[in-house]
Amino acid sequence: MANVTRRKILDMIARGGLACGCGHALSRFAILDALAADAADANPFKVATTGFLGRQVSRLGFGMMRLPQKGRGVIDEELSDKLVDYAIRHGVNYFDTAWMYIGGKSQQYTGKVLEKYDREKLFIVNKMPGGHGARGLDDAKDIFRRQLEACRTKYFDVYLLHALGDYRGYERFYLKGGVLDFLKGEREAGRIRHLGFSFHGGEGDLRRYLDQKDSAGWDVVMLQMSANGVGREFYEMTKPTGLPIVVMEPLHAGRLANLNVAARRALAELKPGLSPAGWAFRWVSSQPNVAVAISGMSRYSDVVENCDTYRDFQPLTESDVAAYRAICEKYRGANLLPCTGCAYCAPCPHGVDIPGVFGLVNACRTDGLLGPKGDGKGMSAADRRKFLDMYRDKVGEKTDASHCTACGSCHPKCPQHIKVAREFRTVKAMVEAIRREDAQGGPA
Ligand code: SF4
Ligand code: SF4
Repeated sequence: MANVTRRKILDMIARGGLACGCGHALSRFAILDALAADAADANPFKVATTGFLGRQVSRLGFGMMRLPQKGRGVIDEELSDKLVDYAIRHGVNYFDTAWMYIGGKSQQYTGKVLEKYDREKLFIVNKMPGGHGARGLDDAKDIFRRQLEACRTKYFDVYLLHALGDYRGYERFYLKGGVLDFLKGEREAGRIRHLGFSFHGGEGDLRRYLDQKDSAGWDVVMLQMSANGVGREFYEMTKPTGLPIVVMEPLHAGRLANLNVAARRALAELKPGLSPAGWAFRWVSSQPNVAVAISGMSRYSDVVENCDTYRDFQPLTESDVAAYRAICEKYRGANLLPCTGCAYCAPCPHGVDIPGVFGLVNACRTDGLLGPKGDGKGMSAADRRKFLDMYRDKVGEKTDASHCTACGSCHPKCPQHIKVAREFRTVKAMVEAIRREDAQGGPA
């Protein structure tokens, strides 16, 4: 490492050097040292900003749902403080938390860490958990009061109705239940600066929400969208309203960052220095009306790489977009599940690590490890062994798909509407078949 300068270390992190195995083993000490040098820089580069609700907002938003944790639900505050500090020093000013992120601890941590910075320069975003904890108007009032308290703020810059889906639920809780009127009153009182909603439903539902733009008084919409086509129809419906759009899951649960080696190489030839995640972020931020792309950052490499992506931000050209799309199509994994790893479905009463199982299966399908169709058929003996080792090590015997009893209690919680029990039946059968073939020493 003698010839590797601190700046080079940060560049290597920014270009995904840690994730793709670039041949340099960076120690934690070397990374900390490079970050300390960056912290001493009196004039750090800034991420790009754009006009948003009368102010300038960073195009990159910090999602406070995947903060580093020491154990389940215990935020690693020492590391998180450094990530947030790096982001703020480089101009990130949009911080997005919610009632149920990290079992409620995200809100408290957000308040604690952001208290150290100039409040007026920040956008603090929170959300009403209708259907995920709040049952009626009294609950909603109590939750809102506790959210302000937890976030140590007198107001939220943006406040969203969290994960609107089925219109009937919205009608019951927000309209007939009086919660929307209460929130509008909070906006008039200045405790909410801008009101909007985040969305996880179908096209018919979104149409009805957008039609109420004036009566409900929406200022902003948060949508899921990514370069692989996810959410495109919702974006196209929202764009004509002129509402500013905040994008969640621009990497589609990391899937667009974790491309296989062939795709990484093809992208590197197209624009040297831009990582796969960088391509995905730039694609999202090149779409008209998209103000902020949220990233749930949990590692140094996430925050350094993402800030670097938005340094000297230029929208992608049409030919860039066409080339990017062609590469993603060519190397797309087969049979991918739409799981984003959000963990809203957790905990499973039978101990299954739902996002862990789906994440591993998707990663293996992306890498072509599970055969050409991603169903475990046609695997080589070496791939079978590798998959079984990973399944045991990364998921664990006590939390794997075989423990699913198909109780269905996770189904209504999944914003992607995944029929988890059915998918787990398929995963379980696939794993058993791979084990059988492995034991019999089947075709290589
Ligand atoms: S359906 Fe399966 S994964 Fe979902 S909660 Fe029930 S046991 Fe857990
Ligand atoms: S199954 Fe659904 S709720 Fe659970 S982690 Fe995946 S997307 Fe989120």
